[in-house]
Amino acid sequence: MKIKISHHDLRTIHPFGISRRTDQVFRNIIVEISHQGHVGIGEAAPSEYYGESRETVLGVLPILETVMKADPFQIEETAGRFSMAIGRNPAAKACLEMALYDLAGKMLNAPLYKLLGLSPYMTPVTSYTISLGNPDLIEAKLKDAAPFSVLKVKVGGPRDLETLGRIRANTDKRIRVDANGAWSPKEAVKRIRELCQFGIEFVEQPVQASDIDGLRYVRERVDIPIFADESAVSPEDVVKLSGVVDGINLKLMKSGGICQTLKMIHVARAQSMKLMIGCMIESSVGITAAAHLTPLVDYADLDGNLLIDNDPFQGVKTEKGKLILPGKPGLGLEPAH
Ligand code: MG
Repeated sequence: MKIKISHHDLRTIHPFGISRRTDQVFRNIIVEISHQGHVGIGEAAPSEYYGESRETVLGVLPILETVMKADPFQIEETAGRFSMAIGRNPAAKACLEMALYDLAGKMLNAPLYKLLGLSPYMTPVTSYTISLGNPDLIEAKLKDAAPFSVLKVKVGGPRDLETLGRIRANTDKRIRVDANGAWSPKEAVKRIRELCQFGIEFVEQPVQASDIDGLRYVRERVDIPIFADESAVSPEDVVKLSGVVDGINLKLMKSGGICQTLKMIHVARAQSMKLMIGCMIESSVGITAAAHLTPLVDYADLDGNLLIDNDPFQGVKTEKGKLILPGKPGLGLEPAH
């Protein structure tokens, strides 16, 4: 197997703000694994929050490459070897593993959802993210969100009430909010109660990732479901969060790939938790890979590719927000132009 690495600076249409930071350029990496005339494609969207950057991914990929099984179909075992070779570095692991799934699908002439035994008709609608920032941009962002029936609004800034008020004045769509760990537990209860006047479906990660007791505190005091995102990166985390939150947001780029995410899904289901699959700012490569898993979950927040203006690929599409999986082999990607 031969591996080619390329750099892709993804540019968001609007500055993308969450409670921790704001960026407009996201330094992702795309890998291509060539084997017997087929090419499998994968993407890394490294996040500083999880200790990664383009540089760490570039540093780690050669280490992972040396432990890959020669047989590209033995993905579970290769993923296990990745974990043994080096800790953390989830985006680096996810991108190689994703490329292997794409390659395996192409070699077997089957789309990824079929390899996983899933129905392509069972995909949910995706939410569309309204990032945190100048409330004067709200109307422009809502225009971009027009084809989508569910909004995910980033909160945890000083002007949340104004932002939500302006959104609600414009639309009666379902709204979910994500604080990205911005609040203390007490503050979270106060803020969530205030935000409930705007008809919120659920809240994601109200308190910081390590504060499991804080998540429990908040959930016991508010009337809407609480989801964990940053608190849930591994199957072991899902066990810790059982009975603490109502649901979990899964991402390939924090769990380390499809194998680990599938384990998290099954562990969470065994504990009757709700599930969402989310994303970083990613091109259609990473978003399409995640979309193939969505028949297994309740909610999707897979809009990273829709928020950028230089997506190098096309794959999953949306129709009135519903994720439409490509029927081509592997991930089902094509170049954008
Ligand atoms: Mg989140």
